[in-house]
Amino acid sequence: PALLFSGPLADPSNSSSPLLVDSTTGFTIHCGDFQRLAKSVASGLSSILGVSQGDVVLLLLGNTVYFPILFAAILSIGAVATTANPANTAAEIERQLRDSRAGFVVTMPDLIAKIGKNDQGFPTSLLGVDERKFPSAVRIRQGDPAALLYSSGTTGPSKGVVLSHGNLIAAVSILASKPKDNDDKVVTFILLPLFHIAGLIYSGCMMIYLAATMVVVRKFDLLHMLQCIQRFKITSLPMVPPIVVALLKHPAVESYDLSSLKRAASGAAPLAKETLEAFLAKFPQIQEFSQAYGMTETTGLGASGEAPFGSAGLLTANHEAKVMDVDAGKPLPPHSRGELWLRGPCIMQSYLNNPAATAATIDPEGWLHTGDIGYFDDDGFLFIVDRLKELIKYKGFQVAPAELEALLLAHPGIADAAVIPYPDDDAGEIPLACVVRGSGEEGKSLSKDEVMDFIARQVASHKRIRAVTFVPSIPKSATGKILRKDLLQTFGKRLK
Ligand code: ATP
Ligand code: MG
Repeated sequence: PALLFSGPLADPSNSSSPLLVDSTTGFTIHCGDFQRLAKSVASGLSSILGVSQGDVVLLLLGNTVYFPILFAAILSIGAVATTANPANTAAEIERQLRDSRAGFVVTMPDLIAKIGKNDQGFPTSLLGVDERKFPSAVRIRQGDPAALLYSSGTTGPSKGVVLSHGNLIAAVSILASKPKDNDDKVVTFILLPLFHIAGLIYSGCMMIYLAATMVVVRKFDLLHMLQCIQRFKITSLPMVPPIVVALLKHPAVESYDLSSLKRAASGAAPLAKETLEAFLAKFPQIQEFSQAYGMTETTGLGASGEAPFGSAGLLTANHEAKVMDVDAGKPLPPHSRGELWLRGPCIMQSYLNNPAATAATIDPEGWLHTGDIGYFDDDGFLFIVDRLKELIKYKGFQVAPAELEALLLAHPGIADAAVIPYPDDDAGEIPLACVVRGSGEEGKSLSKDEVMDFIARQVASHKRIRAVTFVPSIPKSATGKILRKDLLQTFGKRLK
């Protein structure tokens, strides 16, 4: 938090500028009040609730202007913040409370049912506490845990990731050291969930540090987002791929003035090259489009920046990467695909309560084995192909679903698509496309053969789609990742 309180936020000339704005009510917290409020909350947490150094506090919150204040307050007294997706069930939250040993919960009235009988701890009830009671004896070291964030649970049960103060400081310093654009004030839209590492670092910590105006929306809704861009003149829009697709394909987009947008970004899941090309053609006002690749285990960093279509950007500063041939145990040259390994100051400390998983992920030399397949080009741009675990094994070939999904999305009759493995006696697995028809004529008349032929015209024969099923929607996580395990459960056996 010391870092958050410094930089442009501390500049007195920014003190009356809006920092956090509620997108619905317009309620605003100004730059000059952020540190004072965080200190008040910290003092309330410690003197009223008895939170002390090392204690874990669960933030069970949708996006709210109070989220960054609470996060900074918890860290400033040496306590540890753990965050949960408010869409999680009571049982999942119970599991996280136990796993993280959280002794305190800060939540909102409509989420209280998820934590049982407790009705204490509204953020508002803590505001205004006497900041002179701020505990002064706290000594925090770089290696101390600051946040316990849970991975998205896309490939299995989500894992608690221990991030230290040093990890967070490294992440914010690296992002903040990028050359500033000479541009006027950044007005950004906080729609990425702040409980997830991408939202927390890129939309939360980073934007606080920069003293940007952050228009906070509790839950994503396309029309509300369009209204907000127009009303608040949003200049910078961080997104996840499904939102990029929605802006591209939804008819309502035409009815709003989106001319204030100058910068946009997408991360957390693969963005199809074809989608980005079409997006930039549709919104010529966007001068800069950044990509970002990261994991909870890397404090959200990994690669980012303006990049060629299909690339996730350049390797994060102060970090090393290699692309490994996993079977041969050897690093590969540019353009060869292999598992991405990362090392540097943003790599997590460990998985919580799981030394076996930690040892299997971070090797003795400090390399984090990401489980993602990718390659670098000659200019150092990283291309993420897919996850190791998600490759479809067709007759001994490895087929990357993300590559086929990108091609499918470019079909005018297809609104959304996911490709999953389907068991096959002969081939082992075949790629099965789950396709959402577009709402126009092309969608209505789309046939399974047309889907298969469309792909067959563009790929080598082992990568062809060999079965198609039409579905009403593709299940996605809060950060826009396809929930393949849900699709596998539905279609794994009973197609045909
Ligand atoms: P779990 O580890 O619990 O199965 P998860 O890996 O989805 O879930 P996160 O830490 O939220 O949890 O996500 C990190 C993963 O997201 C990366 O390992 C990568 O597979 C994917 N990812 C992130 N950014 C990108 C990107 N720009 N392009 C492609 N994939 C991405
Ligand atoms: Mg993961």
